[in-house]
Amino acid sequence: MLHVVDSFGRIGEENAFAVLARATELQRQGKDIINLGIGQPDFATPDHIVEAAIKALRDGHHGYTPATGILPLREAVSADLHKRFGVDVSPDLVMIVPGGKVTMFMAILMFGAPGVEIMYPDPGFPIYRSMIEFTGATPIPVPIREENGFAFSAEETLSLITPKTRLLIVNSPANPTGGVTPKAEIDKLVAGLAKHPDLAIMSDEIYGQMTYDGLEHQTLLAYPEIRDRLIVLDGWSKTYAMTGWRMGYSVWPKPLYDAARKLAVNSYSCVNASAQFAGLAALTGPQDAVHAMVAEFDRRRKIVVEGLNKLPGVSAATPTGAFYAFPNISKTGWKAKPLASALLEETGVATIGGPDFGVYGEGYIRLSYANSAENILRALDRMGDFLASRKAA
Ligand code: PLP
Repeated sequence: MLHVVDSFGRIGEENAFAVLARATELQRQGKDIINLGIGQPDFATPDHIVEAAIKALRDGHHGYTPATGILPLREAVSADLHKRFGVDVSPDLVMIVPGGKVTMFMAILMFGAPGVEIMYPDPGFPIYRSMIEFTGATPIPVPIREENGFAFSAEETLSLITPKTRLLIVNSPANPTGGVTPKAEIDKLVAGLAKHPDLAIMSDEIYGQMTYDGLEHQTLLAYPEIRDRLIVLDGWSKTYAMTGWRMGYSVWPKPLYDAARKLAVNSYSCVNASAQFAGLAALTGPQDAVHAMVAEFDRRRKIVVEGLNKLPGVSAATPTGAFYAFPNISKTGWKAKPLASALLEETGVATIGGPDFGVYGEGYIRLSYANSAENILRALDRMGDFLASRKAA
């Protein structure tokens, strides 16, 4: 018998990948599947970015790069943060990592251990909790509530901090709810954090360029008082439709940077060199494709919300960020996971049950609107017919 360490009995995963596998299997059997389960833009990476990667390969960028990423790219990240938020971030604190997930992996590894608490949003990206449990730390969910517009409540978040809390994870704009935490609430949260100077904060800002209705993303980098304990997670996956390139970046406080660099050296050495050149072209080139994509998401967002609110027993708050809707289905009589499963098996519409994002996700399902408006309308029709004709299981 092999003796794999116990922590692997506690590591979780993302059910979105299991739903994708089931949807693909049903498709293979000839079923007409509309996939609203997937968390990636349905757009191709813009051509000039692809060309930059090809050029890098032709130019001979075939070797290792520095573990933290090539300097021009770290400089471009700094310049981009300055342009978007007016903040000064030294390229020496920027690290290029293979996808957004890697920052959370490293940050949770740095702070998680038996006997400590790590706070994370619930419903939230499932990997936060999975990694917290993997380290043996105690996961403390911060409830993300519909009545707060799926924003963090500063008061509730601060009330959950104990002397054992080592890391607070925040995420806005948020997966799976599409909620955006307004500046006033973040101001309050940061003001309260002054009383907890030993608490590190990881801010997952991967959907930062996807906000709607004139609402602006508020980066935590804008608060100098927490910069010495703030880790920011961002990347190219969503903004530039580059999920398969595995390109992310983190901003670390100085005392943690070297630990992150060593984790890179001990695991993946560096990010794929040509992908880093693609990332550079993405940040320094035209941003029209980003704006066009976000405008299209905005159009679909309205279609999805309007359609969902016409379904029997369903009510959907209007998401103000990311590309997800998180309708409340509690009045349909269905529990969320059986509903998501029946919708896929019986109507061919893939969604994700809210409990896959945490216990506070019961009563909701997540729909991604990274699919064409035409498919979204077809999916809504099928869901409407299903809910009108089928009793809850
Ligand atoms: N953070 C959030 C909130 C996400 O939704 C995702 C992806 O779905 C990630 C991080 C990870 O992004 P990446 O694919 O770049 O690892």
